[in-house]
Amino acid sequence: MRYRLMDILACPICKNFPLKLYIFEQEELKITEAPKTTCELFCAYKNIKLENVEKDSLLKDCIKCLAYNIKWGIIVCEKCGRWYPISEDIPIMLPDEIRKADDDIGFLKMFEKQIPDDVLKKGKPHHL
Ligand SMILES: [Zn+2]
Ligand SMILES: [Zn+2]
Repeated sequence: MRYRLMDILACPICKNFPLKLYIFEQEELKITEAPKTTCELFCAYKNIKLENVEKDSLLKDCIKCLAYNIKWGIIVCEKCGRWYPISEDIPIMLPDEIRKADDDIGFLKMFEKQIPDDVLKKGKPHHL
C-alpha cells in the first residue's frame, strides 16, 4: 500500500481518523511523473494533519506518499486500541469477529521488535 491511502483510511470499528502507521518494510518505486494532487486531510509521510496547510507547498513532499510501497507494517487506531496488519502490501482492516487469534499472534511475534509495547501488550482484538 502507499502512504497516500492513510489520507482516506478510518478505523472500521470506531471510525477514528487519522490512524497511525508503523512501517516494518517498504520499497521505493520508480515514479516517472510528479503527482498532480496532494493528500487532502492527513499526510502519513509527513505525519501531519493538513487542515491549515497550504496544499501547493506539499506537492514535493507528497511525491513520497506515492513513491513508496509499504510491504509490511501495522495501522493503529489510538482511539479504540485496535491494530491492523499490513501484510504483503495489503492493509487488512477486518472486524474483530473474523480475525483469527493465531494469525494475529503470529504476526505480532514476527515483528515483535518493531511493534510498540502498547500494541504488543494491550492491542485489540489480540495481543501477546
Ligand atoms: Zn502526503
Ligand atoms: Zn478504532
